[in-house]
Amino acid sequence: MYVMFRTLLFIGCLFFAHESEAEVFVSSQQGIFLKNFEIEIQPRELRYFRILPENENFVAGLETRINVGSPFPNISAFICDEHNLNLYKNGNEANCFGMSKGNNQFSFKANRYSPSEHYLVLDNRYALFIKKHVNVSIYAHINLPSEMVHTLKSSFEEMLTLIHYLFIAPDFDLNLASCEQENAFSATKDGDITICSELIYGSLENKGAFVSILFHELGHTFMNLWGLPHYSNEKTADEFAIAVLLMSENDGEKYIYDWIKWFENRQSAEGELIAAYNGGQHPLTVQRINNIKNILANRSDFLKRWSKVLYPHMTNEALNMVINEPYQGANVSLAQEILNNRKIAGN
Ligand SMILES: [Zn+2]
Repeated sequence: MYVMFRTLLFIGCLFFAHESEAEVFVSSQQGIFLKNFEIEIQPRELRYFRILPENENFVAGLETRINVGSPFPNISAFICDEHNLNLYKNGNEANCFGMSKGNNQFSFKANRYSPSEHYLVLDNRYALFIKKHVNVSIYAHINLPSEMVHTLKSSFEEMLTLIHYLFIAPDFDLNLASCEQENAFSATKDGDITICSELIYGSLENKGAFVSILFHELGHTFMNLWGLPHYSNEKTADEFAIAVLLMSENDGEKYIYDWIKWFENRQSAEGELIAAYNGGQHPLTVQRINNIKNILANRSDFLKRWSKVLYPHMTNEALNMVINEPYQGANVSLAQEILNNRKIAGN
């Protein structure tokens, strides 16, 4: 079936090039959640964290949000480059962005203002006895270089080509944009998909996660366009992604494990916090991981159930490939039956 996918990809491109009206939009202005963490700063303590490495030039600006817990909810917080960090540490006048003894919740903007490393500085040296519980969230505005815009655009186009070759559905557009939240949307009206750059950040080096996230959204869109009742259900969209990925015997399963790995990394790092802040519509990571693992452990029933959902919407070419090169768990007799019925109906 892997061969099938590759062949599909090629044939699909030929077909798609003149048939499709679907468009992929990738903006060069994107945004990501760079850091999100909680920390205790002791009395008389100064802590700093590297936020931007040296000579990195994608990040155009930073927005830092600080939230300090009671009973004395204040802290000094700054973004400084390396030179100014050293000045600040030694009590000299420094050129940094931020706020002295900021209260409760406060936020400030900063630009990258030199090629050297940039740091977040949390300073509680003025407090003699009170430690501070601080929650930090840093959002970065990114300027994507044009090669990266192009690469992202072609990866999305490639996957849309494949999925349109497999399934019969109206066209829809796909948009990669910054939404200031970690999310993705599939519009009920026309199935158009918006993937937030905040969501796929961290999945760009993990192809499996990237593909799986997109297939999850495609699940919402296709099931909506097919008029199925559970299109907005998150678990159902995860299942759609898994069912389609398991049709590809080589890479599909590997992609699913990469997706689990990506979930686990996010969970340990910052994912749940961000999701909670934004009132995310997606279920908690741990539940999703468990669902996916359960499916992989009991896949034959799962694939049989999903063949009944998916095959009626598959193209003749894709059904023929299921019959000629069946993947593990393929429902060959159903594929045959659907093709026969289409022949009788003259499709
Ligand atoms: Zn979803």
